[in-house]
Amino acid sequence: MSFFSIISGFFRIRQCVLCHGRALSDGLCEGCAADLPHLFTDSANSCPLCFSASIGGTVCGRCQQKPPPFEQLWASAYYEPPLSGMVYAFKHRADLGMLPPLVSLMRRHSPPWLPDAGIGAVLAVPLSKNRRLERGFNQCDELVRELGRDYGWNVLPRHTVFRRHHAPQSTLKSAQRRKNIRHAFEIKGTIPKDCNILLIDDVFTTGATLAELARSLKKSGAGRIYCWTLARSRLKN
Ligand SMILES: [Zn+2]
Ligand SMILES: [Zn+2]
Repeated sequence: MSFFSIISGFFRIRQCVLCHGRALSDGLCEGCAADLPHLFTDSANSCPLCFSASIGGTVCGRCQQKPPPFEQLWASAYYEPPLSGMVYAFKHRADLGMLPPLVSLMRRHSPPWLPDAGIGAVLAVPLSKNRRLERGFNQCDELVRELGRDYGWNVLPRHTVFRRHHAPQSTLKSAQRRKNIRHAFEIKGTIPKDCNILLIDDVFTTGATLAELARSLKKSGAGRIYCWTLARSRLKN
């Protein structure tokens, strides 16, 4: 590593990832850090199972009719600019400088049920091998590693769950997503019996992936499943 790259790396760390102003330890300047809470989800008026808008935070009609296979879902923020751009840079351009501010955002708006959920193990939503090789890393592994350090989580190893390669969910409509993801996961490792598992994902769209993974884990003996995602798209309902 050249002297120049060390020096430029040093300065990059201290630049805000959004405005290039002087950053605090999590990669954002004071101003940008103060702006981001505008994107925090309105958790008091969100369905606790799908995080769509629901006055008073009651379970929405759709989830009452067809409850998902997990206990609670939490999304820290809405997937909108500048957060969507940060996630894109992190995920598709492997810009690891985005990791500290994204993790910090999750910590700042964390699930209120987390301390009482009795979480025994934490799992990053896995990518298929092809997708991981193509991207170079699994963005959820990075989130879990950082958060796990703070929370002292027991993180399940990557090989616990095998994910088959299939068309990217983002290219499909809701019904197709459910079909596409069916039987996508195979549990390869041992799931401690009745262990409550927290799943970590980056962006929640329809919940098809989380639901399928939760179902597979429960079939393999897991207890309750909880989900925490960094962001979710804002639904118009
Ligand atoms: Zn800034
Ligand atoms: Zn709901």
